[in-house]
Amino acid sequence: MSEPTSAELDLLLELQATDHRVRKLRHQLDDLPEQQQLEATLATAGELDRQHDDIRVELERASSRQRQLEREIEVLTERRDHERSRLYDGSVGNAREMKAVEAEIETTTRRIDEHEEQLLEVLEQVEELETTAAQLVADGEAARTRATELEGTRDAAAKHLLAELGELEADRARRAEQLPAELLTRYEAAAERAGGTGVGKLIDNACTACRLTMSRADVGELLAGPPLTTCPQCRRLLVVPE
Ligand SMILES: [Zn+2]
Repeated sequence: MSEPTSAELDLLLELQATDHRVRKLRHQLDDLPEQQQLEATLATAGELDRQHDDIRVELERASSRQRQLEREIEVLTERRDHERSRLYDGSVGNAREMKAVEAEIETTTRRIDEHEEQLLEVLEQVEELETTAAQLVADGEAARTRATELEGTRDAAAKHLLAELGELEADRARRAEQLPAELLTRYEAAAERAGGTGVGKLIDNACTACRLTMSRADVGELLAGPPLTTCPQCRRLLVVPE
């Protein structure tokens, strides 16, 4: 990489200053009470969605149990009807067989009753789950409506801050465009690592980013080196004046 020109380094420091102001504004915006209410409301809406998803899963399970019971009842009823018709169509030859058929009808009837009881419980459960699901959908919609309102209130409260932020962001984009891509990438990586400030300037015997003073020998070495280097203390990019 060729050494950046002093104009590019000035531009980089301006970009850093703009980024600093953008961060400060974003903090101010995040601290607005309307913003915090909005975030809380969005969190509530998200939680309601999650609960709704859980209910849908339970409902799916209950509905499938319902279908299974209905199918079983159908099969059992057919079996009982078939046995009953045998009682009257003369196909049962003797009293012993007749008794067996009657016992079979009785057992099957009992099983149908048991299945129907279970089905009733499942139907009740399905109904309850459907009510809960509908309530969660309604609550979620209400929370989202409230969030949209809060967004409006927040935007009104933040109008001038947002306008300033928009200008700064446009400024930032303009400056970033003028910087060599490699320099911009190095700066952004350093800023990300340091959680904000990515470049400092050597002024007197200190780096403006970490503000730690350096020994005369360190300063001498930096002054003799390239115009852009790394701060020996904070490892951010460091612009060394000529
Ligand atoms: Zn430093």
